[in-house]
Amino acid sequence: MNKRIAVLPGDGIGKEVAKGAVEILQAVGERFGHQFSFAYGKIGGESIDEFGTPLPDETIQLCKESDAILLGAVGGPKWDQTPAHIRPEKGLLKLRKDLNLYANLRPTMYYESLADSSPLRKEVIQEVDMLIVRELTGGLYFGKPSERVQHNGEDAVVDTLYYEKAEMYRVIKLAFELARDRNKRVTSIDKANVLESSRMWREIAEEVAKDFPDVKLDHMLVDNAAMQMVMNPKRFDVVVTENMFGDILSDEASVLTGSLGMLPSASLSENGPFLYEPIHGSAPDIAGKNMANPLAMILSAAMMLRVSFGLEEEANEVERAVNQVLDAGIRTSDIASFGSPHTSTSKMIDEVKAVL
Ligand code: ATP
Ligand code: MG
Repeated sequence: MNKRIAVLPGDGIGKEVAKGAVEILQAVGERFGHQFSFAYGKIGGESIDEFGTPLPDETIQLCKESDAILLGAVGGPKWDQTPAHIRPEKGLLKLRKDLNLYANLRPTMYYESLADSSPLRKEVIQEVDMLIVRELTGGLYFGKPSERVQHNGEDAVVDTLYYEKAEMYRVIKLAFELARDRNKRVTSIDKANVLESSRMWREIAEEVAKDFPDVKLDHMLVDNAAMQMVMNPKRFDVVVTENMFGDILSDEASVLTGSLGMLPSASLSENGPFLYEPIHGSAPDIAGKNMANPLAMILSAAMMLRVSFGLEEEANEVERAVNQVLDAGIRTSDIASFGSPHTSTSKMIDEVKAVL
């Protein structure tokens, strides 16, 4: 198989972990006889420094011409003072919008060998295997107006929650399709007791459910869901929700696995290319120290193999190699027990490669 992969390492630990994912993909290519080529682009702070914009047209073009995109992370304190429209994060938001990446898939699962890294009891998190599907290009984060206003002589503010029916429909439908390959349960999360947008969301979920009689749908209010996620996480299989609820709940769900450094994600559009990135950020506090956990990025590459290229066996092999390394007790500092020995980013990458 011939595939061209756009690599956007970005800032901070993004660079360190992206290198790991590329090395693992190269190793998979060699072992299984695939030709993966890598084309590098700039995004985020690094791009601001060089081009004065967080997302140059060349990078968008490069992504559009590739079969899939790997992204490290963007941002850092160096760019905290730059004007709002040229912040590193704006580059990523624009890329999601330009490529119409409307669904963000965040699998969260239990690793036996990491049970001690979670603050939650083993009985609670054991066998957790959930997939959060977050709407990514609509809702409160994109609605206009979003601004300070004057109302009756008072300082006031407005943000807008706007969704078109089709935007809700496509992401909910995708969640049902994904549930078919899993345990055939979808939990739709909303705030239908208060928000009109949530009432429409709920209606659409019911409408979609009619086309999937084999998948069981239930609804949950977001406040209750936030509690259930840590009280009884095993009850969830596929979770689907709008942009802001998904943002908050998926960070909460990372506690079930143990570390941000373990969690991959995939962002899907209607026709591709899809984008794969770890859920963590650029981690300025540990950047450049060869300390970051590269596994979230490596597991994102595994998702790429499976979802974009249909290479199930290859994806399983990468996940197996990661598990084998963890079972052998090899740890970066974020997943090591306090005071116990740990390894570097580059060594962790080598360890995974060695058992692939
Ligand atoms: P963003 O706004 O870009 O999501 P953030 O402010 O949420 O960033 P992160 O960069 O994700 O922050 O970092 C949060 C904390 O988790 C930091 O202390 C960081 O060092 C740690 N962390 C994040 N990713 C990793 C990783 N891969 N390995 C080890 N530690 C990590
Ligand atoms: Mg964050």
